Amino acid sequence: MIPESFINELLNRVDVVDIIDKRVPLKKAGANFVACCPFHQEKTPSFSVSPSKQFYHCFGCGAHGSAIGFLIDHDGLNFIDAVHELAKVAGLTVPNQIDEKPEKKKENLVLEDALILAKKYYQTKLKGSPLAIKYLKSRGLTGEIAKEFSIGFAPEGWNNLNEVFKDYDNDALIKSGLIVKNDKGKRYDRFRNRIMFPIYNAKGQLVGFGGRVIDENDTPKYYNSPETALFQKSYELYGLLAARKAIREKGYVLVVEGYMDVVSLAQHNIRNVVATLGTATTNFHIKKLMRYTPEIIFCFDGDNAGKSAAWRAMNNSLTSVTDEVQLKFLFLSDQHDPDSYVRENSKEQFEGLAKNATPLTEYVIQYLTQNNDLTSQEARVKFLNEVEPIMDEMASSKLAFLFKKRISVLLDLTLNEIDNLIKVKNKKTLKAPMQQLKRQTTSVVKRFVILLILNPKLIEKSDKDISWGESLDEQLAQACILKILVDENHNTASIFHYLSNRFDNDFIDEIKSQVLNFDEEISPINEFIGLREKIKQSKLQASNKSKLDAIKHKSFDTLTPEEKKFLKEFTKR
Ligand SMILES: [Zn+2]
Repeated sequence: MIPESFINELLNRVDVVDIIDKRVPLKKAGANFVACCPFHQEKTPSFSVSPSKQFYHCFGCGAHGSAIGFLIDHDGLNFIDAVHELAKVAGLTVPNQIDEKPEKKKENLVLEDALILAKKYYQTKLKGSPLAIKYLKSRGLTGEIAKEFSIGFAPEGWNNLNEVFKDYDNDALIKSGLIVKNDKGKRYDRFRNRIMFPIYNAKGQLVGFGGRVIDENDTPKYYNSPETALFQKSYELYGLLAARKAIREKGYVLVVEGYMDVVSLAQHNIRNVVATLGTATTNFHIKKLMRYTPEIIFCFDGDNAGKSAAWRAMNNSLTSVTDEVQLKFLFLSDQHDPDSYVRENSKEQFEGLAKNATPLTEYVIQYLTQNNDLTSQEARVKFLNEVEPIMDEMASSKLAFLFKKRISVLLDLTLNEIDNLIKVKNKKTLKAPMQQLKRQTTSVVKRFVILLILNPKLIEKSDKDISWGESLDEQLAQACILKILVDENHNTASIFHYLSNRFDNDFIDEIKSQVLNFDEEISPINEFIGLREKIKQSKLQASNKSKLDAIKHKSFDTLTPEEKKFLKEFTKR
Protein backbone atom coordinates (compact mmCIF):
# COMPACT_ATOMS: atom_id res chain seq x y z
CA MET A 1 0.00 0.00 0.00
CA ILE A 2 1.17 3.51 -0.74
CA PRO A 3 1.27 5.39 2.58
CA GLU A 4 -1.61 7.72 3.05
CA SER A 5 0.69 10.55 4.11
CA PHE A 6 2.20 10.45 0.65
CA ILE A 7 -1.16 10.63 -1.12
CA ASN A 8 -1.94 13.55 1.11
CA GLU A 9 1.24 15.34 0.16
CA LEU A 10 0.63 14.58 -3.48
CA LEU A 11 -2.88 16.01 -3.43
CA ASN A 12 -1.51 19.14 -1.80
CA ARG A 13 1.31 19.46 -4.30
CA VAL A 14 -0.33 18.97 -7.70
CA ASP A 15 -2.93 21.31 -9.13
CA VAL A 16 -6.04 19.60 -10.44
CA VAL A 17 -6.58 22.53 -12.81
CA ASP A 18 -3.24 21.88 -14.56
CA ILE A 19 -3.80 18.17 -14.69
CA ILE A 20 -7.22 18.47 -16.29
CA ASP A 21 -6.37 21.45 -18.51
CA LYS A 22 -3.72 19.36 -20.28
CA ARG A 23 -6.40 16.87 -21.28
CA VAL A 24 -9.55 18.96 -21.45
CA PRO A 25 -8.84 22.65 -22.12
CA LEU A 26 -10.47 24.74 -19.38
CA LYS A 27 -11.86 28.26 -19.36
CA LYS A 28 -11.88 30.56 -16.37
CA ALA A 29 -15.34 31.32 -15.00
CA GLY A 30 -15.36 33.26 -11.74
CA ALA A 31 -13.44 31.41 -9.07
CA ASN A 32 -13.58 28.14 -11.02
CA PHE A 33 -12.73 26.75 -14.43
CA VAL A 34 -15.22 25.15 -16.79
CA ALA A 35 -15.35 22.96 -19.89
CA CYS A 36 -17.73 20.67 -21.72
CA CYS A 37 -17.77 17.48 -19.71
CA PRO A 38 -15.46 14.72 -20.97
CA PHE A 39 -17.67 12.09 -19.31
CA HIS A 40 -20.95 12.82 -21.05
CA GLN A 41 -22.14 14.41 -24.28
CA GLU A 42 -23.04 18.05 -23.95
CA LYS A 43 -23.01 21.33 -25.85
CA THR A 44 -22.83 23.83 -23.00
CA PRO A 45 -20.23 23.41 -20.24
CA SER A 46 -21.42 21.97 -16.95
CA PHE A 47 -18.04 20.53 -15.97
CA SER A 48 -16.42 22.69 -13.31
CA VAL A 49 -12.99 22.54 -11.68
CA SER A 50 -12.36 24.24 -8.34
CA PRO A 51 -8.77 25.28 -7.58
CA SER A 52 -9.59 25.93 -3.93
CA LYS A 53 -11.23 22.55 -3.34
CA GLN A 54 -8.88 20.74 -5.77
CA PHE A 55 -11.91 18.95 -7.14
CA TYR A 56 -13.76 18.63 -10.41
CA HIS A 57 -17.49 18.19 -10.62
CA CYS A 58 -19.98 17.87 -13.46
CA PHE A 59 -23.42 19.30 -12.78
CA GLY A 60 -24.74 17.36 -15.75
CA CYS A 61 -23.74 13.78 -15.08
CA GLY A 62 -22.45 14.02 -11.52
CA ALA A 63 -18.90 12.89 -12.32
CA HIS A 64 -16.50 14.23 -9.71
CA GLY A 65 -13.20 13.61 -8.02
CA SER A 66 -9.68 14.74 -7.27
CA ALA A 67 -6.68 14.80 -9.59
CA ILE A 68 -6.18 11.11 -8.88
CA GLY A 69 -9.82 10.36 -9.64
CA PHE A 70 -9.57 12.23 -12.92
CA LEU A 71 -6.64 10.14 -14.12
CA ILE A 72 -8.52 6.99 -13.15
CA ASP A 73 -11.77 7.94 -14.86
CA HIS A 74 -10.43 9.90 -17.81
CA ASP A 75 -7.15 8.18 -18.67
CA GLY A 76 -8.36 4.78 -17.50
CA LEU A 77 -5.43 4.31 -15.11
CA ASN A 78 -5.68 2.22 -11.97
CA PHE A 79 -5.10 3.87 -8.61
CA ILE A 80 -1.42 2.99 -8.29
CA ASP A 81 -0.60 4.13 -11.82
CA ALA A 82 -2.50 7.36 -11.32
CA VAL A 83 -0.49 8.08 -8.18
CA HIS A 84 2.77 7.39 -10.03
CA GLU A 85 1.73 9.61 -12.92
CA LEU A 86 0.92 12.50 -10.58
CA ALA A 87 4.11 11.97 -8.59
CA LYS A 88 6.03 12.40 -11.84
CA VAL A 89 4.30 15.71 -12.50
CA ALA A 90 4.95 16.88 -8.94
CA GLY A 91 8.57 15.69 -8.96
CA LEU A 92 8.00 13.33 -6.03
CA THR A 93 9.13 9.74 -5.61
CA VAL A 94 6.50 7.26 -4.56
CA PRO A 95 7.79 5.66 -1.37
CA ASN A 96 8.04 1.92 -1.09
CA GLN A 97 5.38 -0.16 0.57
CA ILE A 98 4.56 -0.44 4.24
CA ASP A 99 6.92 1.76 6.22
CA GLU A 100 4.32 3.14 8.52
CA LYS A 101 4.38 3.49 12.25
CA PRO A 102 3.11 0.44 14.10
CA GLU A 103 0.11 2.14 15.68
CA LYS A 104 -1.01 3.42 12.33
CA LYS A 105 -0.54 -0.04 10.91
CA LYS A 106 -2.91 -1.42 13.47
CA GLU A 107 -5.62 1.03 12.55
CA ASN A 108 -5.19 0.33 8.87
CA LEU A 109 -5.49 -3.37 9.48
CA VAL A 110 -9.12 -2.69 10.33
CA LEU A 111 -9.87 -2.18 6.71
CA GLU A 112 -8.30 -3.06 3.44
CA ASP A 113 -5.04 -4.63 4.59
CA ALA A 114 -6.75 -7.48 6.39
CA LEU A 115 -8.73 -8.25 3.26
CA ILE A 116 -5.67 -8.05 1.02
CA LEU A 117 -3.72 -10.46 3.22
CA ALA A 118 -6.65 -12.86 3.25
CA LYS A 119 -7.02 -12.60 -0.51
CA LYS A 120 -3.38 -13.57 -1.01
CA TYR A 121 -3.83 -16.46 1.36
CA TYR A 122 -6.91 -17.75 -0.46
CA GLN A 123 -5.09 -17.52 -3.78
CA THR A 124 -2.19 -19.58 -2.48
CA LYS A 125 -4.60 -22.17 -1.13
CA LEU A 126 -6.32 -22.48 -4.49
CA LYS A 127 -3.03 -23.52 -6.07
CA GLY A 128 -2.73 -26.25 -3.47
CA SER A 129 -6.24 -27.65 -3.79
CA PRO A 130 -6.81 -30.13 -6.63
CA LEU A 131 -10.47 -30.31 -5.65
CA ALA A 132 -11.06 -26.58 -6.02
CA ILE A 133 -9.11 -26.48 -9.27
CA LYS A 134 -11.16 -29.37 -10.57
CA TYR A 135 -14.35 -27.55 -9.72
CA LEU A 136 -13.29 -24.38 -11.56
CA LYS A 137 -12.23 -26.43 -14.57
CA SER A 138 -15.59 -28.17 -14.58
CA ARG A 139 -17.15 -24.73 -14.89
CA GLY A 140 -14.97 -24.09 -17.92
CA LEU A 141 -12.65 -21.59 -16.26
CA THR A 142 -8.97 -21.39 -17.14
CA GLY A 143 -6.11 -20.51 -14.83
CA GLU A 144 -5.75 -17.14 -16.57
CA ILE A 145 -9.30 -16.09 -15.79
CA ALA A 146 -8.98 -17.34 -12.20
CA LYS A 147 -5.86 -15.21 -11.88
CA GLU A 148 -7.43 -12.20 -13.54
CA PHE A 149 -10.31 -12.19 -11.05
CA SER A 150 -7.97 -13.15 -8.18
CA ILE A 151 -10.13 -16.17 -7.42
CA GLY A 152 -9.00 -18.15 -4.38
CA PHE A 153 -10.03 -20.97 -2.11
CA ALA A 154 -10.87 -21.01 1.59
CA PRO A 155 -10.02 -24.53 2.79
CA GLU A 156 -12.01 -26.62 5.24
CA GLY A 157 -11.34 -26.00 8.92
CA TRP A 158 -12.28 -23.36 11.47
CA ASN A 159 -9.17 -21.28 12.11
CA ASN A 160 -7.14 -21.32 8.93
CA LEU A 161 -6.68 -17.58 8.88
CA ASN A 162 -4.51 -17.99 11.94
CA GLU A 163 -1.77 -18.81 9.46
CA VAL A 164 -1.95 -15.26 8.13
CA PHE A 165 -2.99 -13.31 11.19
CA LYS A 166 -0.93 -14.20 14.22
CA ASP A 167 -3.23 -11.99 16.25
CA TYR A 168 -6.40 -13.94 15.55
CA ASP A 169 -8.11 -12.02 18.36
CA ASN A 170 -7.68 -8.69 16.61
CA ASP A 171 -11.10 -7.07 16.33
CA ALA A 172 -10.09 -5.84 12.90
CA LEU A 173 -10.67 -9.34 11.63
CA ILE A 174 -14.26 -9.27 12.84
CA LYS A 175 -14.85 -5.75 11.53
CA SER A 176 -13.59 -6.72 8.10
CA GLY A 177 -15.97 -9.68 8.07
CA LEU A 178 -13.27 -12.34 7.79
CA ILE A 179 -13.91 -13.85 11.18
CA VAL A 180 -17.12 -14.54 13.06
CA LYS A 181 -17.56 -14.54 16.83
CA ASN A 182 -20.34 -16.76 18.16
CA ASP A 183 -22.48 -16.18 21.25
CA LYS A 184 -19.99 -17.95 23.46
CA GLY A 185 -17.21 -15.66 22.24
CA LYS A 186 -15.55 -18.33 20.13
CA ARG A 187 -13.94 -17.07 16.93
CA TYR A 188 -13.80 -18.86 13.63
CA ASP A 189 -13.21 -18.23 9.90
CA ARG A 190 -16.31 -17.02 8.11
CA PHE A 191 -15.43 -18.70 4.84
CA ARG A 192 -14.72 -22.44 4.85
CA ASN A 193 -14.49 -24.86 1.96
CA ARG A 194 -15.53 -22.24 -0.57
CA ILE A 195 -14.28 -20.76 -3.82
CA MET A 196 -13.44 -17.16 -2.99
CA PHE A 197 -14.25 -14.18 -5.19
CA PRO A 198 -12.66 -10.90 -4.03
CA ILE A 199 -15.03 -7.97 -4.43
CA TYR A 200 -13.56 -4.65 -5.55
CA ASN A 201 -15.31 -1.33 -5.68
CA ALA A 202 -15.16 0.88 -8.76
CA LYS A 203 -12.00 2.53 -7.44
CA GLY A 204 -10.11 -0.70 -7.21
CA GLN A 205 -10.30 -1.02 -3.44
CA LEU A 206 -10.82 -4.53 -2.08
CA VAL A 207 -13.98 -4.33 0.05
CA GLY A 208 -15.11 -7.90 0.68
CA PHE A 209 -15.50 -11.44 -0.56
CA GLY A 210 -18.07 -13.70 -2.05
CA GLY A 211 -17.75 -17.41 -1.44
CA ARG A 212 -19.33 -20.23 -3.43
CA VAL A 213 -19.61 -23.79 -2.12
CA ILE A 214 -17.75 -26.56 -3.88
CA ASP A 215 -19.55 -29.27 -1.96
CA GLU A 216 -23.06 -29.01 -3.39
CA ASN A 217 -24.50 -30.23 -0.05
CA ASP A 218 -23.24 -27.14 1.78
CA THR A 219 -25.51 -24.18 2.26
CA PRO A 220 -25.93 -21.42 1.43
CA LYS A 221 -24.65 -21.81 -2.10
CA TYR A 222 -23.41 -18.22 -2.21
CA TYR A 223 -22.23 -16.42 0.88
CA ASN A 224 -20.85 -12.88 1.01
CA SER A 225 -18.94 -10.74 3.46
CA PRO A 226 -21.29 -8.97 5.86
CA GLU A 227 -21.85 -5.24 5.58
CA THR A 228 -18.80 -3.43 6.89
CA ALA A 229 -17.59 0.16 6.90
CA LEU A 230 -16.13 -0.57 3.45
CA PHE A 231 -18.74 -2.88 1.98
CA GLN A 232 -22.38 -2.08 1.49
CA LYS A 233 -24.17 -4.49 -0.72
CA SER A 234 -26.83 -2.17 -1.98
CA TYR A 235 -24.09 0.00 -3.48
CA GLU A 236 -21.50 -2.40 -4.87
CA LEU A 237 -21.54 -4.28 -8.14
CA TYR A 238 -19.26 -7.24 -8.69
CA GLY A 239 -16.93 -6.85 -11.67
CA LEU A 240 -17.56 -3.17 -12.35
CA LEU A 241 -13.89 -2.21 -12.12
CA ALA A 242 -12.85 -4.74 -14.75
CA ALA A 243 -15.90 -4.15 -16.93
CA ARG A 244 -15.72 -0.37 -17.24
CA LYS A 245 -13.72 -0.26 -20.45
CA ALA A 246 -15.82 -2.91 -22.17
CA ILE A 247 -19.04 -1.19 -21.08
CA ARG A 248 -17.92 2.04 -22.72
CA GLU A 249 -16.81 0.22 -25.86
CA LYS A 250 -19.94 -1.90 -26.26
CA GLY A 251 -22.26 0.90 -25.24
CA TYR A 252 -24.24 -1.24 -22.82
CA VAL A 253 -23.85 -3.20 -19.62
CA LEU A 254 -25.26 -6.61 -18.73
CA VAL A 255 -26.40 -7.09 -15.14
CA VAL A 256 -26.37 -10.77 -14.20
CA GLU A 257 -27.29 -12.66 -11.04
CA GLY A 258 -23.95 -13.74 -9.58
CA TYR A 259 -20.18 -13.55 -9.67
CA MET A 260 -19.93 -16.94 -11.31
CA ASP A 261 -21.90 -15.56 -14.28
CA VAL A 262 -19.56 -12.57 -14.55
CA VAL A 263 -16.47 -14.74 -14.52
CA SER A 264 -17.76 -17.34 -16.94
CA LEU A 265 -18.93 -14.72 -19.41
CA ALA A 266 -15.47 -13.14 -19.19
CA GLN A 267 -14.11 -16.56 -20.05
CA HIS A 268 -16.04 -16.25 -23.32
CA ASN A 269 -14.71 -12.74 -23.75
CA ILE A 270 -18.00 -11.06 -22.90
CA ARG A 271 -16.69 -8.44 -20.52
CA ASN A 272 -19.29 -5.70 -20.20
CA VAL A 273 -20.88 -7.61 -17.33
CA VAL A 274 -21.52 -6.91 -13.64
CA ALA A 275 -23.49 -8.68 -10.90
CA THR A 276 -25.32 -7.60 -7.79
CA LEU A 277 -24.12 -9.12 -4.54
CA GLY A 278 -26.91 -11.14 -3.02
CA THR A 279 -29.32 -8.22 -2.98
CA ALA A 280 -31.94 -6.98 -5.38
CA THR A 281 -30.80 -4.38 -7.87
CA THR A 282 -31.15 -1.01 -6.15
CA ASN A 283 -31.51 2.47 -7.56
CA PHE A 284 -27.94 3.11 -6.36
CA HIS A 285 -26.77 0.36 -8.69
CA ILE A 286 -28.68 1.90 -11.57
CA LYS A 287 -27.32 5.37 -10.90
CA LYS A 288 -23.81 3.98 -10.71
CA LEU A 289 -24.15 2.19 -14.04
CA MET A 290 -25.68 5.23 -15.68
CA ARG A 291 -22.32 6.93 -15.23
CA TYR A 292 -20.83 4.52 -17.72
CA THR A 293 -23.56 3.81 -20.23
CA PRO A 294 -27.09 4.79 -21.22
CA GLU A 295 -28.16 1.18 -21.82
CA ILE A 296 -28.59 -1.31 -18.99
CA ILE A 297 -29.67 -4.87 -19.75
CA PHE A 298 -30.73 -7.22 -16.99
CA CYS A 299 -29.97 -10.80 -17.81
CA PHE A 300 -31.51 -13.17 -15.30
CA ASP A 301 -32.06 -16.91 -15.32
CA GLY A 302 -35.38 -18.09 -16.72
CA ASP A 303 -36.41 -19.79 -13.47
CA ASN A 304 -38.80 -18.34 -10.90
CA ALA A 305 -36.02 -16.81 -8.81
CA GLY A 306 -34.71 -15.05 -11.90
CA LYS A 307 -38.15 -13.79 -12.82
CA SER A 308 -38.85 -12.29 -9.44
CA ALA A 309 -35.34 -10.76 -9.30
CA ALA A 310 -36.09 -9.03 -12.62
CA TRP A 311 -39.41 -7.70 -11.38
CA ARG A 312 -37.78 -6.28 -8.28
CA ALA A 313 -34.99 -4.76 -10.35
CA MET A 314 -37.61 -3.09 -12.54
CA ASN A 315 -39.42 -1.66 -9.52
CA ASN A 316 -36.24 -0.37 -7.91
CA SER A 317 -35.05 1.25 -11.12
CA LEU A 318 -38.09 3.32 -12.00
CA THR A 319 -37.16 6.41 -10.05
CA SER A 320 -33.65 6.51 -11.51
CA VAL A 321 -34.46 5.94 -15.15
CA THR A 322 -34.27 9.23 -16.99
CA ASP A 323 -35.13 9.94 -20.61
CA GLU A 324 -31.50 9.37 -21.53
CA VAL A 325 -31.38 5.81 -20.23
CA GLN A 326 -32.73 2.59 -21.64
CA LEU A 327 -33.47 -0.37 -19.43
CA LYS A 328 -33.96 -3.77 -20.99
CA PHE A 329 -34.65 -7.30 -19.86
CA LEU A 330 -33.25 -10.49 -21.26
CA PHE A 331 -34.60 -13.84 -20.15
CA LEU A 332 -32.92 -17.07 -21.04
CA SER A 333 -35.01 -20.18 -21.39
CA ASP A 334 -35.73 -22.25 -18.28
CA GLN A 335 -32.77 -24.59 -18.42
CA HIS A 336 -30.13 -21.93 -19.11
CA ASP A 337 -28.01 -19.49 -17.21
CA PRO A 338 -25.77 -17.08 -19.16
CA ASP A 339 -22.79 -19.41 -18.91
CA SER A 340 -24.56 -22.54 -20.16
CA TYR A 341 -26.20 -20.57 -22.95
CA VAL A 342 -22.92 -19.22 -24.29
CA ARG A 343 -21.29 -22.63 -23.99
CA GLU A 344 -24.05 -24.32 -25.94
CA ASN A 345 -24.41 -21.55 -28.51
CA SER A 346 -21.88 -18.77 -29.06
CA LYS A 347 -20.77 -15.36 -27.91
CA GLU A 348 -22.33 -13.83 -31.02
CA GLN A 349 -25.68 -15.47 -30.42
CA PHE A 350 -25.69 -14.31 -26.82
CA GLU A 351 -24.88 -10.75 -27.85
CA GLY A 352 -27.62 -10.99 -30.44
CA LEU A 353 -30.09 -11.85 -27.67
CA ALA A 354 -28.84 -8.88 -25.69
CA LYS A 355 -29.41 -6.57 -28.65
CA ASN A 356 -33.01 -7.74 -28.88
CA ALA A 357 -33.73 -7.65 -25.16
CA THR A 358 -37.19 -6.48 -24.12
CA PRO A 359 -37.51 -2.77 -23.27
CA LEU A 360 -38.73 -1.85 -19.79
CA THR A 361 -42.31 -0.89 -20.63
CA GLU A 362 -42.82 -3.89 -22.88
CA TYR A 363 -41.48 -6.13 -20.15
CA VAL A 364 -43.93 -4.66 -17.62
CA ILE A 365 -46.84 -5.31 -19.95
CA GLN A 366 -45.70 -8.84 -20.73
CA TYR A 367 -45.27 -9.58 -17.05
CA LEU A 368 -48.65 -8.23 -16.03
CA THR A 369 -50.53 -9.89 -18.87
CA GLN A 370 -48.97 -13.33 -18.66
CA ASN A 371 -51.84 -14.50 -16.46
CA ASN A 372 -54.30 -11.79 -17.37
CA ASP A 373 -55.98 -11.84 -20.80
CA LEU A 374 -57.65 -8.43 -20.21
CA THR A 375 -60.93 -9.72 -21.62
CA SER A 376 -63.22 -8.98 -18.67
CA GLN A 377 -63.76 -5.57 -17.06
CA GLU A 378 -62.46 -6.99 -13.79
CA ALA A 379 -59.27 -8.16 -15.47
CA ARG A 380 -58.74 -4.73 -17.00
CA VAL A 381 -59.28 -3.00 -13.67
CA LYS A 382 -56.81 -5.37 -12.05
CA PHE A 383 -54.27 -4.55 -14.75
CA LEU A 384 -54.77 -0.80 -14.33
CA ASN A 385 -54.35 -1.10 -10.58
CA GLU A 386 -51.07 -2.89 -11.06
CA VAL A 387 -49.78 -0.52 -13.68
CA GLU A 388 -50.68 2.69 -11.86
CA PRO A 389 -47.93 2.64 -9.21
CA ILE A 390 -45.38 1.81 -11.89
CA MET A 391 -46.39 4.75 -14.02
CA ASP A 392 -46.44 6.88 -10.94
CA GLU A 393 -42.84 6.05 -10.08
CA MET A 394 -41.36 6.54 -13.54
CA ALA A 395 -38.88 9.39 -13.42
CA SER A 396 -38.68 9.68 -17.19
CA SER A 397 -41.58 11.85 -18.32
CA LYS A 398 -41.32 10.87 -21.99
CA LEU A 399 -41.20 7.19 -21.18
CA ALA A 400 -44.15 7.54 -18.81
CA PHE A 401 -46.14 9.25 -21.54
CA LEU A 402 -45.35 6.65 -24.17
CA PHE A 403 -46.10 3.90 -21.69
CA LYS A 404 -49.48 5.41 -20.96
CA LYS A 405 -50.17 5.65 -24.66
CA ARG A 406 -49.26 2.02 -25.15
CA ILE A 407 -51.63 1.03 -22.35
CA SER A 408 -54.44 3.10 -23.75
CA VAL A 409 -54.12 1.22 -27.03
CA LEU A 410 -53.96 -2.09 -25.22
CA LEU A 411 -57.15 -1.38 -23.28
CA ASP A 412 -58.84 0.48 -26.10
CA LEU A 413 -59.22 3.66 -24.04
CA THR A 414 -58.32 7.27 -24.86
CA LEU A 415 -55.50 9.02 -22.98
CA ASN A 416 -58.07 11.19 -21.24
CA GLU A 417 -59.96 8.17 -20.06
CA ILE A 418 -56.77 6.64 -18.72
CA ASP A 419 -55.94 9.90 -16.94
CA ASN A 420 -59.37 10.00 -15.36
CA LEU A 421 -59.10 6.42 -14.28
CA ILE A 422 -55.70 6.47 -12.68
CA LYS A 423 -55.05 10.17 -12.12
CA VAL A 424 -51.34 10.01 -12.79
CA LYS A 425 -49.81 13.11 -11.31
CA ASN A 426 -47.66 15.41 -13.31
CA LYS A 427 -44.10 14.30 -12.51
CA LYS A 428 -42.47 17.65 -13.05
CA THR A 429 -44.46 19.51 -10.43
CA LEU A 430 -44.27 16.62 -8.03
CA LYS A 431 -40.53 15.94 -8.06
CA ALA A 432 -39.15 19.37 -7.23
CA PRO A 433 -40.58 19.85 -3.73
CA MET A 434 -39.74 16.28 -2.86
CA GLN A 435 -36.08 16.85 -3.63
CA GLN A 436 -36.10 19.98 -1.52
CA LEU A 437 -37.59 18.08 1.33
CA LYS A 438 -34.86 15.51 1.02
CA ARG A 439 -32.19 18.15 1.27
CA GLN A 440 -33.72 19.54 4.45
CA THR A 441 -33.72 16.17 6.12
CA THR A 442 -29.94 15.77 5.86
CA SER A 443 -29.01 14.86 9.40
CA VAL A 444 -27.63 17.52 11.68
CA VAL A 445 -24.39 15.59 11.99
CA LYS A 446 -24.00 15.19 8.26
CA ARG A 447 -24.56 18.87 7.70
CA PHE A 448 -21.98 19.60 10.42
CA VAL A 449 -19.48 17.43 8.56
CA ILE A 450 -20.20 19.07 5.21
CA LEU A 451 -19.67 22.56 6.61
CA LEU A 452 -16.53 21.41 8.38
CA ILE A 453 -15.05 20.00 5.19
CA LEU A 454 -15.79 23.26 3.43
CA ASN A 455 -14.27 25.30 6.26
CA PRO A 456 -11.76 23.25 8.23
CA LYS A 457 -10.66 26.40 10.06
CA LEU A 458 -13.90 26.37 12.04
CA ILE A 459 -12.77 23.30 13.94
CA GLU A 460 -12.19 23.42 17.71
CA LYS A 461 -10.04 20.96 19.61
CA SER A 462 -13.00 20.06 21.81
CA ASP A 463 -14.96 18.82 18.81
CA LYS A 464 -13.20 15.52 19.13
CA ASP A 465 -14.40 15.17 22.73
CA ILE A 466 -18.07 15.22 21.83
CA SER A 467 -19.32 11.74 22.74
CA TRP A 468 -19.81 10.65 19.15
CA GLY A 469 -21.85 7.51 18.67
CA GLU A 470 -21.65 4.52 16.38
CA SER A 471 -23.91 5.67 13.54
CA LEU A 472 -22.29 6.05 10.14
CA ASP A 473 -22.75 9.82 10.19
CA GLU A 474 -21.15 10.13 13.60
CA GLN A 475 -18.25 7.89 12.64
CA LEU A 476 -17.78 10.17 9.67
CA ALA A 477 -17.78 13.25 11.88
CA GLN A 478 -15.14 11.72 14.12
CA ALA A 479 -12.94 10.74 11.21
CA CYS A 480 -13.15 14.23 9.71
CA ILE A 481 -12.33 15.91 12.97
CA LEU A 482 -9.33 13.66 13.56
CA LYS A 483 -8.03 14.18 10.04
CA ILE A 484 -8.29 17.95 10.28
CA LEU A 485 -6.81 18.17 13.77
CA VAL A 486 -3.90 15.83 13.08
CA ASP A 487 -2.91 17.11 9.69
CA GLU A 488 -2.45 20.79 9.04
CA ASN A 489 -2.04 20.34 5.31
CA HIS A 490 -5.41 19.48 4.01
CA ASN A 491 -7.69 20.50 1.20
CA THR A 492 -11.05 19.12 0.18
CA ALA A 493 -9.44 16.53 -2.07
CA SER A 494 -7.08 15.18 0.59
CA ILE A 495 -9.83 15.07 3.22
CA PHE A 496 -11.97 13.04 0.86
CA HIS A 497 -9.14 10.75 0.01
CA TYR A 498 -8.67 10.06 3.70
CA LEU A 499 -12.38 9.39 4.14
CA SER A 500 -12.68 7.14 1.11
CA ASN A 501 -10.15 4.77 2.68
CA ARG A 502 -12.35 4.41 5.72
CA PHE A 503 -15.91 4.44 4.46
CA ASP A 504 -18.03 3.06 1.72
CA ASN A 505 -17.41 4.98 -1.49
CA ASP A 506 -20.99 5.78 -2.29
CA PHE A 507 -21.60 7.08 1.18
CA ILE A 508 -18.64 9.41 0.68
CA ASP A 509 -19.80 10.26 -2.83
CA GLU A 510 -23.08 11.46 -1.42
CA ILE A 511 -21.24 13.76 1.00
CA LYS A 512 -18.98 14.91 -1.82
CA SER A 513 -21.84 15.86 -4.04
CA GLN A 514 -23.33 17.95 -1.24
CA VAL A 515 -19.99 19.64 -0.62
CA LEU A 516 -19.54 20.33 -4.32
CA ASN A 517 -23.05 21.64 -4.77
CA PHE A 518 -22.77 23.94 -1.79
CA ASP A 519 -23.77 27.48 -2.57
CA GLU A 520 -20.55 29.39 -1.95
CA GLU A 521 -22.42 32.64 -1.41
CA ILE A 522 -23.71 31.40 1.93
CA SER A 523 -21.53 32.14 4.94
CA PRO A 524 -21.62 28.99 7.03
CA ILE A 525 -20.09 30.24 10.29
CA ASN A 526 -23.28 30.87 12.24
CA GLU A 527 -24.95 27.74 10.96
CA PHE A 528 -21.91 25.68 11.88
CA ILE A 529 -21.77 27.03 15.42
CA GLY A 530 -25.49 26.40 15.75
CA LEU A 531 -25.12 22.82 14.61
CA ARG A 532 -22.29 22.17 17.04
CA GLU A 533 -24.47 23.48 19.87
CA LYS A 534 -27.39 21.34 18.72
CA ILE A 535 -25.27 18.20 18.64
CA LYS A 536 -23.85 18.88 22.09
CA GLN A 537 -27.35 19.48 23.45
CA SER A 538 -28.70 16.25 22.06
CA LYS A 539 -25.72 14.33 23.46
CA LEU A 540 -26.34 15.88 26.86
CA GLN A 541 -30.01 14.97 26.76
CA ALA A 542 -29.20 11.41 25.79
CA SER A 543 -26.70 11.09 28.60
CA ASN A 544 -29.14 12.59 31.12
CA LYS A 545 -31.81 10.22 29.98
CA SER A 546 -29.65 7.17 30.45
CA LYS A 547 -28.52 8.37 33.88
CA LEU A 548 -32.12 8.95 34.82
CA ASP A 549 -33.13 5.53 33.54
CA ALA A 550 -30.48 3.96 35.73
CA ILE A 551 -31.66 5.86 38.80
CA LYS A 552 -35.38 5.34 38.24
CA HIS A 553 -35.44 1.83 39.62
CA LYS A 554 -33.45 2.54 42.73
CA SER A 555 -34.88 3.77 46.00
CA PHE A 556 -33.55 7.15 47.10
CA ASP A 557 -31.51 5.73 50.00
CA THR A 558 -29.43 3.52 47.77
CA LEU A 559 -28.33 6.33 45.42
CA THR A 560 -24.68 7.32 45.33
CA PRO A 561 -23.83 10.94 46.24
CA GLU A 562 -23.19 11.69 42.53
CA GLU A 563 -26.58 10.28 41.61
CA LYS A 564 -28.29 12.36 44.26
CA LYS A 565 -26.52 15.46 43.03
CA PHE A 566 -27.52 14.71 39.46
CA LEU A 567 -31.13 14.18 40.45
CA LYS A 568 -31.24 17.43 42.39
CA GLU A 569 -29.81 19.43 39.54
CA PHE A 570 -31.97 17.70 37.01
CA THR A 571 -35.23 18.34 38.84
CA LYS A 572 -34.30 21.97 39.47
CA ARG A 573 -34.56 22.71 35.75
ZN1 LIG B 1 -20.69 15.21 -17.18
